[in-house]
Amino acid sequence: MVNPSSNESPDQPWLVYKKAMVVVAHPDDAEFGFGGTLAKIAKEGMEIAFVLCTSGDKGSNDLDMTSERLVPIREQEQRDAAAAIGCTDVTFLRYGDGELEASREVIGKITREIRRFRPDIIFCQDPYQRVRHNHRDHRNAGQATFDAVYPVARDHLHFPEQVKDGLQPHKVAEIYTGFTDTPDVVIDISDVMDIRIDALKSHRSQISDLDGIRSRMLGRTSELAKEHGYAYAEGFKRHTFNI
Ligand SMILES: [Zn+2]
Repeated sequence: MVNPSSNESPDQPWLVYKKAMVVVAHPDDAEFGFGGTLAKIAKEGMEIAFVLCTSGDKGSNDLDMTSERLVPIREQEQRDAAAAIGCTDVTFLRYGDGELEASREVIGKITREIRRFRPDIIFCQDPYQRVRHNHRDHRNAGQATFDAVYPVARDHLHFPEQVKDGLQPHKVAEIYTGFTDTPDVVIDISDVMDIRIDALKSHRSQISDLDGIRSRMLGRTSELAKEHGYAYAEGFKRHTFNI
């Protein structure tokens, strides 16, 4: 168990942690929200697993598209994006897009993945975002992840059948939430922009101008990055669990 209080560089989690899990609602959420950070931590040697709560089966404006056809397309795009980042461990929970609840069942499935992969740190969506309306799946994916980390994955009497299956209880040291109103960790992603763009371009069904995305991404730097003197950066809210 890593002691998060020893982490004196919250903007360099790879100095403390070995394993990161990403839990998000839809294919492309992680790459749009914090793909640079994931590329960065993978490059620094961290092992990453992705958990997708839905397969994004409503994400099309093509009136001839069906959810049944869209699921395998978006799952393959997500596997390609994860591979571009350097990750092959991708799990789809296959809840309906727009229908995700922070239910006991969803918390249980995320708990199973936490007990299997045993991450030190989790990257997920901020369930407490207030400034803008948050997509219900983003809110519920974030909420279910927090509830899975504490107390459910930690305590063996939650989902004891998982423990019987050999999945031991697990303590996660920290959650970093992306898509947050109040970032307190800023990660410099300037040196991994090429990987970030390659990962984003994997989501072919979601990006109308694949050729233009590179110049758009490189032409856009955030106030957050400028404030910290970086060319490109991603911000997170840090939640430490001393449990
Ligand atoms: Zn989304």
